[in-house]
Amino acid sequence: MIVNPIKRRPTRKIRVGSVYVGGDAPISIQSMTNTETCDVAATVAQIQRCAEAGADIMRVSVPSMEAAAAFGEIRKQVSVPLVADIHFDYKIALAVADAGADCLRINPGNIGSEAKIREVVAAAKYHDISMRIGVNAGSLEKDIQKKYGEPTGQALLESAMRHIDILDRLNYQEFKISVKASNVFLTMDAYRLLSQQIDNPLHLGVTEAGIYRTGSVKSAIALGGLLMEGIGDTMRISLAAEPEEEVKIGFDILKSLSLRSNGINFIACPSCSRQEFNVIAVMQALEERLEDIRTPMDVSVIGCKVNGPGEAKEADIGVVGAAPRSLVYRNGEKSHLIDTNQLVDEIETMVRQRVVELEEAKSKEIIRTSF
Ligand code: SF4
Repeated sequence: MIVNPIKRRPTRKIRVGSVYVGGDAPISIQSMTNTETCDVAATVAQIQRCAEAGADIMRVSVPSMEAAAAFGEIRKQVSVPLVADIHFDYKIALAVADAGADCLRINPGNIGSEAKIREVVAAAKYHDISMRIGVNAGSLEKDIQKKYGEPTGQALLESAMRHIDILDRLNYQEFKISVKASNVFLTMDAYRLLSQQIDNPLHLGVTEAGIYRTGSVKSAIALGGLLMEGIGDTMRISLAAEPEEEVKIGFDILKSLSLRSNGINFIACPSCSRQEFNVIAVMQALEERLEDIRTPMDVSVIGCKVNGPGEAKEADIGVVGAAPRSLVYRNGEKSHLIDTNQLVDEIETMVRQRVVELEEAKSKEIIRTSF
């Protein structure tokens, strides 16, 4: 059995509503709404779709006082913790803190006078809510841009430390921080440098990563690399795509590194002329039909006997494709034959049965350990 070698960097644990970030808390997945915040119904519906996809935390943009009022309404209608995204205007930060925000995404260095910063931090302390500092390569301070000539890891670090120093002076440590760039190497460099300086939780992301496919690849390389080094406590995949897709990609990265489980981990063949059934069509159908499953499980669907038995033995449910009937393995043991034309229906039925078995076993374990 392969042991996961990742050792997470020790960080301080903070709280975003009901979700802990940092320390030994699971790496959380975030996304951000792209609806008009003032359209409360549309924003609530989108947050709920993301929560169903597994989002632990959602960020909502609050560009105006009207949006702050809408944020308060949204807060009442969803249970997932909400981060209010504010730029510059400290009065909006104060309003959303009153309206029930679980975290303020605001850079203290951009708020203005020391008195305004103090007010925002005092509100965060009063409401017992956290903050997120977000440094982006595309909006570094002018003097830092001039000093470094171009965005570098050191430049992002210097910008981050300015904001951090302000919160340090105000004796406020309930914050997480991101240092994002759209370039993979720059992103990784900045996070590595920052992780050596502070023990606050790090929010990982490649900003403006791009469209669905290329953005997912970029994010998987940068965030996957950092996570393998133990860096990162929460993450957002920034895609030009619907936010629930960001959540799914985030989980796929964490699942690939055995850092979180959320539903089915599929093992399937690539395109190959040896396959005894249409693996692509079967996998697409299964992915759609089983999207609602949250119970962690390995399901291998392999097109022929070359690699089929080896993969099936390691999975909860394994299918070795053959015509006209395919061989099923359950818990690593040969079980029975099924009609290859009915693979999707048969696998769905077996997966749902397995969910029931696993959930029953989990309940019994909880009862046993509670006595
Ligand atoms: S297991 Fe068979 S069908 Fe799948 S990739 Fe290998 S040779 Fe091709």
